[in-house]
Amino acid sequence: MATDSGVAHDFDIVVAGAGPAGLATAIALANEGFATALVGEAGVPRDGRTVALLDGSVRFLKAIGVWERIAPDAAPMTQMRIVDATGSLFRPPPVTFHAREIGLDAFGHNIENTKLVAHLAEEARARAGLALFPARAAGFAADDTAAAVTLADGRRITARLAAGAEGRQSTLRRAAGIGTRTWAYPQTAVTAILSHARDHGGASTEFHTRAGPFTLVPLPGRLSSLVWVNRPQDAARLAALDDASFARAVENEAHSLLGAMQVAGPRGAVPLSGMSASPLTARRLVLIGEAAHVFPPIGAQGLNLGLRDGAALRDAVADARDRAEDIGAAQVLARFGRGRAADTQLRTGAIDLLNRTLLADMLPADLLRGAGLLALGLIAPLRRMVMREGLTPGLGTPRQMRRAPRGRAGEGGGDVVSPALDQHRNQA
Ligand SMILES: Cc1cc2nc3c(=O)[nH]c(=O)nc-3n(C[C@H](O)[C@H](O)[C@H](O)COP(=O)(O)OP(=O)(O)OC[C@H]3O[C@@H](n4cnc5c(N)ncnc54)[C@H](O)[C@@H]3O)c2cc1C
Repeated sequence: MATDSGVAHDFDIVVAGAGPAGLATAIALANEGFATALVGEAGVPRDGRTVALLDGSVRFLKAIGVWERIAPDAAPMTQMRIVDATGSLFRPPPVTFHAREIGLDAFGHNIENTKLVAHLAEEARARAGLALFPARAAGFAADDTAAAVTLADGRRITARLAAGAEGRQSTLRRAAGIGTRTWAYPQTAVTAILSHARDHGGASTEFHTRAGPFTLVPLPGRLSSLVWVNRPQDAARLAALDDASFARAVENEAHSLLGAMQVAGPRGAVPLSGMSASPLTARRLVLIGEAAHVFPPIGAQGLNLGLRDGAALRDAVADARDRAEDIGAAQVLARFGRGRAADTQLRTGAIDLLNRTLLADMLPADLLRGAGLLALGLIAPLRRMVMREGLTPGLGTPRQMRRAPRGRAGEGGGDVVSPALDQHRNQA
């Protein structure tokens, strides 16, 4: 076990990166009784970014015992509205999805990224069996028996398995020689937190525009977070506005749905890009969260997928232990990697396609998108199926994310994903 002065620290698992995915994964592993080390300093820039944690993620956070601390700062999303504002010839009426139609109180909960990370860090500090190393990981090596993470201050942590969760520039991924595919979109996401005169009523609203989705997601009280995907030149123009002019621009784009608006938190701008690592594992190493995959912020997928990585890792190592296998053995990582690759590829493809059909400005793409939305608006069983069908059948939802079958609690069922994503997948 860990000694603070010694060079080697021997753990079951070392997680590098104390962002939301790394923190939640480390807590889940420590809860399972694995001697876990977490390397990194918790903290994220205040850029007005929030994360909509979908139903499966909330179940996971409940299962690992952190939700009670997080919940007061998160707003439930009880409805999701999609409005086609592309100006296309074939424009369907707005579609509203209600969580109650599929027996849920909410599709998920929205929270500021900084608050989520602060709460998770607080919970991590309180966990027995979780040793925190607030330092940067500088190197990684592995052999047949152990993985070793070297810290920037020269200390070395050894474990049977390492998880790289240090975001898109992952040091462990590079050190292990895992390749990445990256791509960029001609778009920038403008983010902000705004207060408004009218209640949002728990509704998240997504306007599909030719420049990308313009989304307002509820926060506690009369507050909403904005993700306005725009052309880079328009994003730069918006960034240059003072708060009052910016709020007016948002209100106009939202057709005054929530009444008069005011900026009530930090503003930010994030150029849209994607990244996919392949493979997702190397010798005694797995990748988690944005170390493995980066999406444009469309359809609330990024961290939800990152938390699924963590929950799936917890299942994989718990199963390996039950079978008396080495938790870092190649066959254990192969099982984990297969499931995660399928989930990641599906999400990456669907988000990319949705974004590109919005940008396409072509009648066939408009017809397809419009017909899908129209069908969802008119056919309730189809709408319910699309809402319910979270993970594609066969992919396997991690155990701590499963929904209880009707009338029972604690097991079975599937996840719920963004209707926007599923609507699109339905068309594809
Ligand atoms: C505008 C916007 C809106 C979004 N909305 C949503 C949403 O609604 N729902 C959703 O699910 N997702 C959303 N996302 C995606 C989500 O924010 C990310 O998926 C998530 O924050 C990534 O978490 P992570 O822990 O994988 O990586 P990160 O947050 O990048 O954390 C990595 C951590 O590792 C640290 N680190 C880096 N290098 C090292 C090192 N060498 N050693 C130690 N530590 C290191 C970093 O400092 C950081 O603390 C959105 C993204 C954007 C841009």
